[in-house]
Amino acid sequence: MGTIMGHLRKLPGFLAALLAGAFVCAAVGPARVVLVAGKPSHPPGTHEHNAGVLLLNKCLKQQRGVLPVVVKGGWPEDESVFAGARALVFFMDGGKRSPVLEGNRLETLHGLMAKGTGLALLHYAVDVPKEIAAAEWLEWAGGYYESGYSRNPVSDADLKQSSPAHPISRGWKDFSLRDEWYHRIRFAPGDPRFTPILTAFLPKDAPAPETVAWVVERKDGGRGFGFTGGHFHANWGHGAFRTLVLNAILWTAQLDVPAAGAACVLSPEELARNLDDKPAPAPKKRGGAP
Ligand SMILES: [Zn+2]
Repeated sequence: MGTIMGHLRKLPGFLAALLAGAFVCAAVGPARVVLVAGKPSHPPGTHEHNAGVLLLNKCLKQQRGVLPVVVKGGWPEDESVFAGARALVFFMDGGKRSPVLEGNRLETLHGLMAKGTGLALLHYAVDVPKEIAAAEWLEWAGGYYESGYSRNPVSDADLKQSSPAHPISRGWKDFSLRDEWYHRIRFAPGDPRFTPILTAFLPKDAPAPETVAWVVERKDGGRGFGFTGGHFHANWGHGAFRTLVLNAILWTAQLDVPAAGAACVLSPEELARNLDDKPAPAPKKRGGAP
């Protein structure tokens, strides 16, 4: 009996040592990157949040030093999944439908960002209501889509590297691609933390250079990334598009970007997997009938 009690008394110390070991391992282990895939909201083949995030997850698993964690179907019920994250990636609804507007989620993000957690915003996730979260998006990610000011036509666009020497620009070249390239993004004028990554020439009838991907290096040590493409799921099959985003996620998590970029090969079968089960859009009526 006495011996058992002796062992039990030693247990807390033993557990503490284990926990200390686990903590050290976590600190030096791979960078935890939490990818949040929003709920279905758009027609088939567009805003495929779950399928897109699962592709990114597959590709990130092939990179060194990163531990991707996927949250499917919207904001996590248990926010402890964010604990220890080096970066968050949001591929989900925006505007008034942004999941960050519910409850105290913005406060959760304030806590994480203050610790220097990176934030990568993909497509609709760059859009937040000006009066509610624009200040946060500007601070944490360097820009936001402002309803009524920014634009979102589907365009065939020529895309050029804005900062070829930046690590995110490794392993891909200028390209042309059709997407819903949001532009006229709101940035903070003269933001010294800001670096443009991708320039599109929009709109088509009066083309002007528009930044459609960018980064910031924050004072809290965190890094932010915004990317306005991602409407069409098929675009994840485009090498330059995919490499740019993968590079950016690594960079946002403070990881080295490989000299040849974050390579990842996807087959057509893989691209077609995990699509949300959505109703096909109703056929368009002709003749203006209601
Ligand atoms: Zn879209």
